[in-house]
Amino acid sequence: MTYQSVNPNTGKTLKSFDELNDQQLEKALSTAQSCFHVWKKTSYAQRAAIISRAAGLMRANVDEFAKLATLEMGKRIDEARGEVNFSADILDYYARHAEAFLAPTKLHPKVGEAHMETSPFGVLFCVEPWNFPYYQLARVAGPQLMAGNVLVVKHAGCVPQCAIAFEKLLIDAGAPVGAYTNLLISHKQAERIIDDPRIQGVALTGSVAAGRSIAARAGQNLKKTSMELGGSDAFIVLDDADLEKTIPWAVWGRMYNAGQTCCAAKRFIVLDSIADRFLEKFKAALNELKPGDPMDEKTTHGPLSTEAALTQLLKQVDDAVAKGATLVMGGKRIDRPGSFMQTTILTDIKPDNPAFRDEFFGPVVSFFRVKDEAAAIALANDSDFGLGGSVFTADAARGKRVASGVDTGMMFINNIDWSDAELPFGGIKYSGYGRELGNMGIQEFVNTKLVRTAHLNAPA
Ligand code: NAP
Repeated sequence: MTYQSVNPNTGKTLKSFDELNDQQLEKALSTAQSCFHVWKKTSYAQRAAIISRAAGLMRANVDEFAKLATLEMGKRIDEARGEVNFSADILDYYARHAEAFLAPTKLHPKVGEAHMETSPFGVLFCVEPWNFPYYQLARVAGPQLMAGNVLVVKHAGCVPQCAIAFEKLLIDAGAPVGAYTNLLISHKQAERIIDDPRIQGVALTGSVAAGRSIAARAGQNLKKTSMELGGSDAFIVLDDADLEKTIPWAVWGRMYNAGQTCCAAKRFIVLDSIADRFLEKFKAALNELKPGDPMDEKTTHGPLSTEAALTQLLKQVDDAVAKGATLVMGGKRIDRPGSFMQTTILTDIKPDNPAFRDEFFGPVVSFFRVKDEAAAIALANDSDFGLGGSVFTADAARGKRVASGVDTGMMFINNIDWSDAELPFGGIKYSGYGRELGNMGIQEFVNTKLVRTAHLNAPA
């Protein structure tokens, strides 16, 4: 069964859900389509009232939302609360700014007058991952509902209760039925939805494999897509970096959300002269983390989302070692119930090792030493991915130079504060295309139309 809540801290199944049958799916699509005709004519002020009410309800019920995420995918409870509050911030941000972002803009042609105006596409199909079970939904729901689109959403199989809770949130906030519909559907049904003429755009956040399949299907239908895919972000440490301040970012960057973040620091690229010191301190800091129940505030190391995720990661580490990588620490499951992985460091990963290019979605550090800044940039760019990256240095100008040299969608200097409602998020290469959040995020699925007025003279 695809849709199952299984607590990864205990391995116990909490709840299972049936998939929609084809009649139920058809009803959901036709309701969404009818809703669009009303929603697109609803004023920004009315839409904003609903979306900001949803934000308020999230904040008022932060503990209930957070507990559900912790139960279903093992996120540590304080991180889960942070995610709920941040999701509310995103909804509020678009409630406040959508009208200005989508306001008509005047152009200045040589003859006559012209302006650009926007209108929503229609029903969008969104496919979302489990790792941020609310934030990912807020990232599409906030901008796209405010733009006047309506959404049918397929969430990941392991977080059905979070998916249902978010749909209920919008209904409770006053959204009309059909504005946001959660669909418990199979991959086959997802393909048929992409083919359906009522669907006007497709947004995916997920793996490269899902991106290839969904973008190909949408491409056959000439439908606009946005793709937020995986990453293998570089964490570059220059020789002048303050290690006392850098190490906590390294730990947070790799271990936040048990290492299951698209833009997590995954490849640590450290200049040779400080590499030994960095590695020593990093190891010591990772050893401090305490595995435990993610519901317990004192836990600093939670489980992976599912047993399947753990099995895959263990296999990736074994393969990396079999192909020549050195295991500096960890590499095994933790001897306790639940799907826990030891914090792990791999070094000596040569370019012919699959680990050199693959994404490790969990607490696994790939460590590289390089001779200088240019070699750090070259190694950071020797990746199929291009989501984000970071550089740590005492010299801001040097940091900016490195940031400009790395080919990704986002770079962070002396921090990895990945996401803010107003900052565009997204990547290049296998990390996908398009942007979510900020002004760019709301422009992805609107028609920006040219309207030109001139005197009624016959063409010259
Ligand atoms: P995944 O397997 O691709 O799943 C993501 C979503 O896509 C799920 O809802 C999944 O449904 C669905 N899906 C997968 N293949 C599909 C298909 N052929 N047809 C229809 N739906 C399909 O991704 P994951 O491994 O669980 O999630 C982690 C990945 O997402 C990582 O690579 C991570 O880097 C990436 N990610 C990227 C961003 C970003 O903003 N760039 C943010 C977060 C995560 P089922 O669960 O039913 O299979």
